[in-house]
Amino acid sequence: MNEFTYAYDEIIDLLESYDVKNYARTRNFLDGDVSYLSPYISRGVISTRSVYDSLMKRYSLEKVEKFVQELAWRDYWQSQWNYHGTKINRDLNFNQEATKQDGMPASLMEARSSIGVFNEAIKDLYNVGYMHNHMRMYVAMSICNIASYHWYEPARWMYYHLLDGDWASNALSWQWVAACLNGRKYIANQENINKYCRVDEGDNFLDKTYRDLTRYDEVEELQELSTVDLKWKPISGDNPNALKHDDSLIYNYYNLDPKWRSGQVANRILLIEPKVFEAYPVSERVMRFFMNLSKNIDDLIIFVGDFAELKKLCRGEIYYRQHPLNNYVGVEDKRESLSSLEGNYSSFFKFWKQCKRQLLEERN
Ligand SMILES: Cc1cc2nc3c(=O)[nH]c(=O)nc-3n(C[C@H](O)[C@H](O)[C@H](O)COP(=O)(O)OP(=O)(O)OC[C@H]3O[C@@H](n4cnc5c(N)ncnc54)[C@H](O)[C@@H]3O)c2cc1C
Repeated sequence: MNEFTYAYDEIIDLLESYDVKNYARTRNFLDGDVSYLSPYISRGVISTRSVYDSLMKRYSLEKVEKFVQELAWRDYWQSQWNYHGTKINRDLNFNQEATKQDGMPASLMEARSSIGVFNEAIKDLYNVGYMHNHMRMYVAMSICNIASYHWYEPARWMYYHLLDGDWASNALSWQWVAACLNGRKYIANQENINKYCRVDEGDNFLDKTYRDLTRYDEVEELQELSTVDLKWKPISGDNPNALKHDDSLIYNYYNLDPKWRSGQVANRILLIEPKVFEAYPVSERVMRFFMNLSKNIDDLIIFVGDFAELKKLCRGEIYYRQHPLNNYVGVEDKRESLSSLEGNYSSFFKFWKQCKRQLLEERN
């Protein structure tokens, strides 16, 4: 798997040259035509809205509806994080039937399970920082629904290593797999994995019929437990006396958009709050990618500390983009998204119906 670029021009090239025509047919295959745009959407370099606007220059909504629906999944999870806040860190609608509460299976964490294609995908997660959506579902269901580990620690493990780590999409996708959202567990067997990963593996804990899989209890190779001990390595900031202007624009882990308020005369400050990264740690590789992406913003000053400390140094107005992790005071800009929908939606499809209606109305 190739490394992800962090140069803004190349990211925009990727977006503008993305050929979406085979997406709906191939997206579930490991080698399908997915976009690989998530690291840039998650870090706020581009948004679901800017991706949509770019697509609409080349396609009609009808031609790319499946892809747009996937973008809407991201907005949906985001809206649920906005609405529920830290409640998404616990089982949201249904309690998971988990027998082991902490940690995750050592054989998967160490990429030495009996399923070769899982081991390769986990090595890619560590070395590149990406995993295909279907593989994320397979790994999550093996941990939660086959081996009965609680979703929370494994979700943190995956978030730690993903360049596209987004706690809303992450925690809520794990909860969806583990039946905490709609009460239905996601299960796949080896036959399904062989089809979508184009491999021919067998004689392992998923090489069963669906009937036998749902009656499964103890899988020996998944019993050995590994604790998920994730540490964020602090980085150093710049000299805060470097604030030249009155007003300040705050960038952070979820907002690195070089086009945001681009004409405004202001300090551009990358705020790295240790308390956020201690609560939601990411690996050094992920941190490096994030810092490299931030280089797309000219004259960016890096400030490591709490917002309250930064605020004391700012003379004028402070601007930032809405995000549930921000506890800032100032002028809040809305996040860019496909629609204006907010609040609680009990299902994605209710959300999507209204989102699509707005997209159609805006076209007419
Ligand atoms: C257990 C699990 C954990 C996940 N954790 C994250 C995470 O931390 N961060 C993250 O961005 N996504 C997460 N996802 C969703 C999804 O796997 C990724 O967004 C997708 O694989 C990104 O690759 P892509 O850009 O090539 O996707 P594409 O298939 O090209 O999709 C285009 C865009 O649509 C959005 N999208 C696609 N599928 C989903 C989905 N299922 N849920 C939400 N948005 C979606 C993404 O913004 C993506 O960039 C998770 C899914 C699962 C099952």
